[in-house]
Order: sequence, then structure tokens, then C-alpha cells
Amino acid sequence: MEKSYDAIIVGAGIIGACTAYELSKKGYRTLSIDKLPAAGYGSTGNSCAIIRTHYSTYDGCALAYEGFFYWDDWANYLGVDDERGHAKFHKTGCFVMKTELNNYLGPICENMDALGVPWEDCDPESLKAKMPIYDLHSFAPVRRPDDDDFGKTSGEMVAGAVFFPMAGYISDPQLATHNVQRAAEAKGATFLFNSEITEIRQADGRVAGVTLKDGTRIDAPIVVNVAGPHSYIVNRMAGVEDGMNIKTKALRQEVAHVPSPEGFDFEKNGFVTSDSDIGCYCRPETGNHILIGSEDPACDEREWVDPDDFNRDFTEQWQAQVYRVAQRIPSLGIPSRMKGVVDLYDVSDDWIPIYDKSDLAGFYMAIGTSGNQFKNAPVAGVMMAELIERCEKGQDHDTDPVKLELHHSGRTIDLGFYSRRREINEESSFSVLG
Ligand SMILES: Cc1cc2nc3c(=O)[nH]c(=O)nc-3n(C[C@H](O)[C@H](O)[C@H](O)COP(=O)(O)OP(=O)(O)OC[C@H]3O[C@@H](n4cnc5c(N)ncnc54)[C@H](O)[C@@H]3O)c2cc1C
Repeated sequence: MEKSYDAIIVGAGIIGACTAYELSKKGYRTLSIDKLPAAGYGSTGNSCAIIRTHYSTYDGCALAYEGFFYWDDWANYLGVDDERGHAKFHKTGCFVMKTELNNYLGPICENMDALGVPWEDCDPESLKAKMPIYDLHSFAPVRRPDDDDFGKTSGEMVAGAVFFPMAGYISDPQLATHNVQRAAEAKGATFLFNSEITEIRQADGRVAGVTLKDGTRIDAPIVVNVAGPHSYIVNRMAGVEDGMNIKTKALRQEVAHVPSPEGFDFEKNGFVTSDSDIGCYCRPETGNHILIGSEDPACDEREWVDPDDFNRDFTEQWQAQVYRVAQRIPSLGIPSRMKGVVDLYDVSDDWIPIYDKSDLAGFYMAIGTSGNQFKNAPVAGVMMAELIERCEKGQDHDTDPVKLELHHSGRTIDLGFYSRRREINEESSFSVLG
């Protein structure tokens, strides 16, 4: 390993790896540093890795639409083999329940139409034909299981769903990250594992490099913070937090894996689903399991934690999520052994990521991914590399935001949307839905 590089990337999760890949393609000599033993071992490895196109904002939809094409043509994006094989994109499509909470999906479908993203309206009967295990009664508002009214329906039925065919999931997000590591290495990138950055050094008013826990100093005129739930800690090392209007913090999450109900193969015949009537999203999981995540309903307390000291065990939150899905799927068995994952989101104040420069010259950030940016990692890498190149050539992104033509969808996006200095975006769902 050398002692100086063109750019150091803090973190080798999926977004860090994609950033390294795109910078390497542009000719930067990059070093990705991660304190964990391999790429994608942080929050990326526990990601549900759902790929979907629907977001609350137009810009969110545009980015996710662009992101879809990378996953859909993964081998071509990577351009190299991986000795472990390539991650698989299971293109199931996604059903989103129409509820009062999401305005029966009217605004989202308008965004989809404006972008040319396909969707299909699905009445309750056709939804039931696709998901015969479903009880289509409405259970809203979402409640905690200890609420006396939990599991009671008003008697109303849900209004059906919208089906988004450009959706699915990556069953092995860690492998996907390893794939990108190999692709980046083929372009000259270097990865250093088991190495914790403890200092971001500065000289002459700009970033100068990093210092590792063992005292090793590595120099670079560019440092990119892609530290996931540790992003705010790395920003504090660089002293850039005061210049940010939107900040980030770590939120604890539990995801449950439960067996598919008797007589239904969810792994084969299930879909990605988003159901705000019960406050949960689901997707098929290997071993004919159903993966259950939370849509952060108002009745659940948010658990902001120290990313180096949090409870990695399941709690009653695991049961709450499984019980909620058991309202929709009454035949769902509730296992006594809890399986799934506990990990952290790196949440921004408005649940929209920050892809930006900072007030310290040469220090950039791709953070605040709020539980919903795995799908956008390849396009985030493209955005970060372009942003870095333009800023280093002298463009003042704060006053003259970088615009980027998206390769697959042909849209032009204004990267100012992801600025650290933006006002809170009130159009956001303020949840994992983005
Ligand atoms: C439970 C869960 C479910 C999710 N589901 C989805 C989903 O369905 N769809 C979707 O699109 N997104 C989802 N996400 C979000 C998505 O996984 C993240 O947005 C994405 O993985 C973030 O990647 P990253 O590279 O930014 O960060 P990470 O994967 O967190 O990587 C950051 C890396 O930085 C390293 N690091 C931190 N500090 C230091 C330091 N000081 N020195 C050295 N290394 C350091 C860490 O070790 C870590 O490996 C989910 C996230 C979670 C936790």
C-alpha cells in the first residue's frame, strides 16, 4: 500500500464501493478504507436491498428509476467477473397498498407518469388473486400489539394497490458490494480493511488525508465520507457539521424473517409489498421465508443510538412487525425463535440523502441514506464522481449546482437537491419510504 492517493473513500459499503468504482473509471487513484474485514460488512450487508421506483418526491423517483437499470444489467455495469459470482436481482415487482396515508398513491403515480415509469392499478379482487393469503380488511391506524384495539378492523376494506413492475430485491447485498469492489479494483482501485480512520487531517485550508487508529498516516487531497451510520462521527472529525443545515444520526431497526404460511410459497410466488395500512413492508427471503421491515409508523418510538454501542438483540419490536403482518396474512405462523437482522439506518433530518461537498475543500459526503439508498448506489457513485471532478475543477456547487444527465433514463438532475444546506424537504415521507 502506498502512502498517498488521489482520493480516500471512508467506508466500503455499497455506496462507498460504487463511488470508488466511478472515481477509478475517471482515472483517480483511490483507496477505500473500512474498519470491518470486507466490503459490504456494515449496514449494507443487512440491507433488505429492495429495488423500487416509487418515492415521495419527483427527484427521488427519477433517481430510483435510473438506479433500476444498473441492477437490471448488473454484469454489464461491472464489466468483470467475480470469483464469488454476481449478485442476483429478483425482479418480482412491488405492490403498494392504496391508503389514506399515501393519498391512495395519486401523487406518486403522477410522478411515475411524468417519468414514463410503468404502473398498474390493481383492484382488491385482482390483488387477492395474486395474494390469496391476504385478508384485505383495513387495520389502520397502525397500533402497538399491546393496544386493546390491535388487530381490530373498522370493517372497511383496503382500496386495492398499485403494482410497480420495475421492482424487486437483491438477495445478497454483501455479494453485490464485493462485485463492485472487484469492478473497482479492475480499474485500479485499492481497498484496505480492518483499518479504522480516527482523524481527518487538514493543511492549508483543505483536507490533507487521514490517520488510522494504529497511527498510520495516508495522504490525499480528496476524502469522501461514505461511513453509513458513522457518517456524523466522520463529519465531526473533519469539523464540517456546523456548515450543514441537514444533519445525520443513527436509527436502530429490526427486520424479521418468518416462514411462509403453510401452502403458499412466498419465495417463489411472493412480491415486494409496501403496506402502510399495517405499517410494514415485505419481500421474499431465501428458504421460503417472508422478510418483514417496518415503515416507521407514528406509534413506534424511534430509537436513535450510538452506532458503536447499541442493542443487537431482537426486542418486542420484532413481534410487533410480525403481528402486524399477521393481520394481513392470518395464516402466518409466529415462530418462537426470532430470526432476522438488527442494524442501523443513517438517517438525515428529512430522510433524503446528502450527496454533496462540504465547507472543507476536498472533503465530500454521500451520507444520510435513511434506509432507502441501496438501490441508488450505482447512480450515487456516478453522481459523487461527477460532483468531485467538477468541484475540483473549480465549479462552486453551492452557488452553481452541478447538473447531471442520467445515462439510462435520459433525465437531467440537479444535484443541489441533495445539498447539505437545503431546507428540510416537506414533501418527504419522513420515513424509510423516502
Ligand atoms: C435493515 C436495513 C434495511 C434496508 N433496506 C433497504 C432496502 O430495502 N432498499 C434500499 O434501497 N436501501 C435499504 N437500506 C439502506 C441501504 O442498505 C443503505 O442506504 C446502504 O447500504 C448504505 O451504504 P453505504 O455504503 O453508504 O454505508 P454502509 O454499508 O453503512 O458502509 C459504511 C462503512 O463505513 C465503515 N466505517 C464507518 N466509520 C469508519 C471509520 N471511522 N473508519 C473506517 N471505516 C469506517 C463501516 O465499517 C461501514 O462498512 C436498508 C438499510 C438497513 C440497515
